[in-house]
Amino acid sequence: MAQAKRQFQFDLDVTVAALRSVLPETCERVPLHQPVFAGKEWDYVKECLDSTVVSSIGSFVGRFERQMAELAGTRHAVAIVNGTAALHVALLLAGVRPGDEVLAPTLTFVATANAISYCGAVPHFIDSSLVTLGIDPDRLRDYLRDIAERRGDEVINRRTGRVIRALVPMHTFGHPVDMEPVLDVAAEWGLFVIEDATESLGSRYKGKPTGGWSRLAAFSFNGNKIVTTGGGGAITTDDEALAEKAKHLTTTAKLPHPWAFVHDAVGFNYRMPNLNAALGCAQLEQIHGFLASKRKLAERYRRALAGVPGASFVAEPPFARSNYWLNALLLDEQHADAREQLLERCNAAGLCCRPAWTLMHHLPIYRNCPRMELPVAESVARRLINLPSGAGLAEAGGG
Ligand SMILES: *Cc1c(COP(=O)(O)O)cnc(C)c1O
Repeated sequence: MAQAKRQFQFDLDVTVAALRSVLPETCERVPLHQPVFAGKEWDYVKECLDSTVVSSIGSFVGRFERQMAELAGTRHAVAIVNGTAALHVALLLAGVRPGDEVLAPTLTFVATANAISYCGAVPHFIDSSLVTLGIDPDRLRDYLRDIAERRGDEVINRRTGRVIRALVPMHTFGHPVDMEPVLDVAAEWGLFVIEDATESLGSRYKGKPTGGWSRLAAFSFNGNKIVTTGGGGAITTDDEALAEKAKHLTTTAKLPHPWAFVHDAVGFNYRMPNLNAALGCAQLEQIHGFLASKRKLAERYRRALAGVPGASFVAEPPFARSNYWLNALLLDEQHADAREQLLERCNAAGLCCRPAWTLMHHLPIYRNCPRMELPVAESVARRLINLPSGAGLAEAGGG
């Protein structure tokens, strides 16, 4: 009776054809992401140039901040020069000091860990959940009970002796982290939570926008994000004092005065220029259309990949609504070896697919940082491919 189970061969042709069927036929090279400028971008940028007020701060900055606060569902938004700088300042405002540790996912873009390093702090890497691709709250809870202890108001990593100050959940590819249990763990230990919402503008967790679930959050408006200001970022918060501090620290910590230059801290030149904000105002006016296009494209990928044995589409968690910033395909564990070939074949076919980021603890610069066991992130990083996801593809697309 015993019949050797035949390992089925992953079918690269079927997979590439399925992906191709989703995308515009006319397009020879489909980029991973591409911004869409279909609104008042030219008008607002011209208005800004005509006004000669191009640097920080002009009227478009304030307007952009009000639009952003509304989207994040927070009382305040502060426009920043980019998402990395927004994370840096948010961490400083959270009280992160040199020698502290900050918990962050290993599965993230390097900017999350770099911002922690800019504070003189040490990133401490956490594993991901297969449901969200973000921090796994259950494993984090068990891990902290194992390695941490409270001393007065502080949480100490017993293995390194350092203070663990903050926790940075990142909403991977736009898919919201399971925030309620993450916030419970943070509350258990008194950790300051900063959402890295740089990929998740417009995503919702349990009906409420990401970026509004923590005391501080960071957004990015780089050219490859869901809306762009060229380069740009924002900090969102409900806390007026923190919003004021964010503005102050990012405006060279200059005390308000009609002519005198007095600075009460070593501040940063981190405010978003008015020219970028002008572009951003036009982009934010179109966000609902972008989100609808992204969902349409994601749905096409989901359907196309349903017919591909050995691979699956990375769908939004059941409790959340994703902005589907970057679509992704996950190979089954036994076909992880086919990943490089699939990347080659896709790129040869004009689909600019990419692997997941190199995990932070695999980078030489972060190899010696503290970390928990990271089997899920390791597995995802070997099996994942990001798919072309520009909002413009949904309109032009086939399938
Ligand atoms: C894009 C991104 C950032 C940084 O944003 P920039 O505006 O490029 O500085 C930070 N973290 C993550 C996870 C990102 O994807």
